[in-house]
Amino acid sequence: MNGKKIMALADANIMNTYRRVPIALVRGEGARVWDAEDREYLDFVAGIAVCNLGHSHPKVVKAIKKQAKELMHVSNLYYTKPQADVAAWLVAHSFADRVFFCNSGAEANEAAIKLARKYAHEKMGGGRFELITMKDSFHGRTMATITATGQEKFQFGFTPLLDGFTYVPFNDPDALEAAITPKTCGVMLEPIQGEGGVIIPDAAYLARVRDICDRRHILMIVDEVQTGIGRTGKLFAYEHSGVTPDIMTLAKALGNGFPVGAMLAREEVAGAFVPGNHASTFGGNLLGMAAVKATLKALVEDGVLDNCREMGEYFLAKLRKLQEKHPVITDVRGRGLMLACSLASEGAGIVGACQEKGLLINCTGGKTLRFVPPLIVDSGDIDEAIAILDSVMEGT
Ligand SMILES: *Cc1c(COP(=O)(O)O)cnc(C)c1O
Repeated sequence: MNGKKIMALADANIMNTYRRVPIALVRGEGARVWDAEDREYLDFVAGIAVCNLGHSHPKVVKAIKKQAKELMHVSNLYYTKPQADVAAWLVAHSFADRVFFCNSGAEANEAAIKLARKYAHEKMGGGRFELITMKDSFHGRTMATITATGQEKFQFGFTPLLDGFTYVPFNDPDALEAAITPKTCGVMLEPIQGEGGVIIPDAAYLARVRDICDRRHILMIVDEVQTGIGRTGKLFAYEHSGVTPDIMTLAKALGNGFPVGAMLAREEVAGAFVPGNHASTFGGNLLGMAAVKATLKALVEDGVLDNCREMGEYFLAKLRKLQEKHPVITDVRGRGLMLACSLASEGAGIVGACQEKGLLINCTGGKTLRFVPPLIVDSGDIDEAIAILDSVMEGT
């Protein structure tokens, strides 16, 4: 089926929730994808920070195939080894003592919100259920997570929202402290705001948040759905801060493209959940766990984190050079391979022109170009992307 036919079939039958790019993708390998006409693209979207090891990574593919032949799914009423292995790995490599598995970022955040409320209900005394979240944050599309998301555009038309959420500016510890009331049970935030435009807070911000949470006895929840699994050059972005949260959520890159999410917590906090409190039919599904196991193993054993840090610095330096040449770029920033350019004007035209030249990038918030390539990119890939951006910006 050619691309035009795929697009027409999709447009006639799928609900209209995405403003889609007119490209039908059929195949991927490493940092490249191909469309139905076999046109090649350099993919600096990578499923939006999902395919951190690159597309169809052979080790992940092999693990999924092997698991599919053995056992694909059983109820969480039973034990399985892949799930136990992944949970043990995550516990060994993070601050957390326990893991809950689900299928997406929004579900992981739902689970975090429920755990925070349950913990508060049991350990903090009555009436403490409010969460403080950040303006311009993004936490997902379920009712609780659009409420947690501090952007009206995601909430419009869906009221009434959930009770018990207040919003403060990101990167402003004083505003956070001032917003705490006797009803507050926690704060939820992204270590770097992703959908909000790759907003990197001050180096000391997370430590300040931790200090406030400790002094005021509230929970610190970090949403690492986008920043986790190596994206910023460390396994988890909170590791840059020198402090640890009480709860963390993961999804996106966890299965390198297989849909899986997780919510992790310290023992004392996790203890608020008892059988019957929360569940997911597919959470911790065997195929997903096989994908996660292979992804995490490759991430730490194949030098992917080192490459991410090295290529992140290389890319950032190249973007700074590009900014000197093109005044349309007003700011350049990044950590690891989560990078962005702010633009003086709307970015949609640049995104479209890059596509024409074989580079996939994404624009967030209208005027921010976001770059979240696979963490296995090399300097040649980055040079190619920069050359395309350079030629496209000549015309702006
Ligand atoms: C993508 C994202 C989510 C939502 O994840 P889904 O899997 O789409 O539900 C939540 N939080 C952050 C920070 C994200 O980037």
